[in-house]
Amino acid sequence: MSREKLANLMFKDELKTPGYYLEKYPKRNLKEGARVVRYAPSPTGFQHIGGVYAALINERLAHQSEGIFYLRIEDTDQKREVEGAIEDTIATMHNFGMEFDEGMTGEETSKGNYGPYRQSERKEIYHTFAKKLVEDGLAYPCFCTPEELNEIREKQMAEKITPGYYGEYAVYRNFPVEEAIKKIENGEEYIVRLKSPGKEENRVEFHDLIKGDVSFPENVQDIVIIKSDGLPTYHFAHAIDDALMHTTDVIRGEEWLSSLPIHLQLFDVLGFDRPNYAHVPTIMKSENGSKRKLSKRKDPESAVSYYREEGYPAVSVIEYLLNIINSTFEDWRTENPDADYHEFPVSLDKMSKSGALFDIVKLHDVSKNVICKMKATVVYDYYVAWAKDFDKEMFDLVTKNEAMMKEVFNIDKEGPKPRKDFGKWNEVREKIFYFFDELFNLETSENVELPKTLNLEDAKSIIESYAKVYNFNTDQETWFEELKALAIELGYATNRKEYKSNPENFKGMVSDVAGAVRAALTHRTNTPDLYTIMQIMGEEKVRDRFNKFINL
Ligand code: GLU
Repeated sequence: MSREKLANLMFKDELKTPGYYLEKYPKRNLKEGARVVRYAPSPTGFQHIGGVYAALINERLAHQSEGIFYLRIEDTDQKREVEGAIEDTIATMHNFGMEFDEGMTGEETSKGNYGPYRQSERKEIYHTFAKKLVEDGLAYPCFCTPEELNEIREKQMAEKITPGYYGEYAVYRNFPVEEAIKKIENGEEYIVRLKSPGKEENRVEFHDLIKGDVSFPENVQDIVIIKSDGLPTYHFAHAIDDALMHTTDVIRGEEWLSSLPIHLQLFDVLGFDRPNYAHVPTIMKSENGSKRKLSKRKDPESAVSYYREEGYPAVSVIEYLLNIINSTFEDWRTENPDADYHEFPVSLDKMSKSGALFDIVKLHDVSKNVICKMKATVVYDYYVAWAKDFDKEMFDLVTKNEAMMKEVFNIDKEGPKPRKDFGKWNEVREKIFYFFDELFNLETSENVELPKTLNLEDAKSIIESYAKVYNFNTDQETWFEELKALAIELGYATNRKEYKSNPENFKGMVSDVAGAVRAALTHRTNTPDLYTIMQIMGEEKVRDRFNKFINL
């Protein structure tokens, strides 16, 4: 009776009963094996690549099993909240190919029958269940001030025993209910703690879907479930939300693994079925031979915005993350070069149990493979979209020359071994600048790259002769025959063996002659097919470049 009075005093608002909510949120009617999972960020405004990685695992598992992937906003720590963060989260996930079936759809809007999907709007629900725990003697008010808690901790440290609020150190655990009522009536401040049923000598065994069998001492701490601002702690909100939203699998960062004993205990105390858990290894970076967490402060690649700015297509990042999630992805990709990544079955038991290594070099490689398989028109669209935000000059040049650019992006693309020139859009400028006089004319002789065997004067004299014999209107084979004929005339070998056996008889190889032509047109030694470049440039520009080169 008096516990009921205490509970009513602690939770003064008109509340429903737990039964009301259990009925309001029935189990979803989904097919056997369908997973209900969530992405549950705090709205801090910073999109960490680790968030996309965790969300991708959840999203793939939900949609592979015809289940539900929902967005829940964990905003019980209101100090950290940033405006616009919810919309930003949704847009980021959308950009990485993920759509939520349920949950928040904007700062103030949501869809689905299991809401509210924002923890700050679920206060009544948390209070309903916390009140029930108080009534049942499974939770109680704690009136300790921060100073008192500190004193307890210091004493424990001095005595070298486990710090915390538990057992004999839990001052208000066995406080008489009547006394507690008096304190509350006197207006004293309090928080709500769980009366932990755990025993120090007991262990909890659990099978984590990634970590495998894990075993921990039972939780004995009387953890806080409702804070002084009336909002729940992560632990309490997690148990209530994932139970009422019928999450089948809690797939979250491994930093939560050590709290698992608390969470299992809360599910039990509240009378809820435990969900499956999978604790995802943290994304690590290798540095000077050791591994460390990707840091928001030190590593620009920890921010999702980095990939957009650099111009990595989202699908490249997705494919790379799939590589980290399941190392079998790479072989699958080799066997299914043209398949949509959605066809790859993500599996939790194939995940590495320890830190996932993030390697930007590998991402770049994956991205080159992704981009080289895109059609030229797709590359064009992606590039224009990127340049619009990040390279206005290129945007203007490229869109003014759309037809030419599509030809440029198509060079050496359609054969069995398409060129892999770009891993990200900010690399395009340097690889195609020479098609535009506006950029090419800014170069000086210092920028000219030549084959190692040639100096600028040799190259100029080759071009002087070549300009006289050059035919624009020929097919590729004839073009090359003519180039060879000139090479011979100028004293260059066309046969490597011959050259190798008597190098002193030649000025160099035919490749040097081609290299000079390449240098005159592009100032670079490594370009796509020279004949095609010349055809795209057109005769006028080619001849103009020859003249410029001679006068350089
Ligand atoms: N809000 C928690 C976080 O951002 C969510 C963890 C979870 O998925 O349960 O770390």
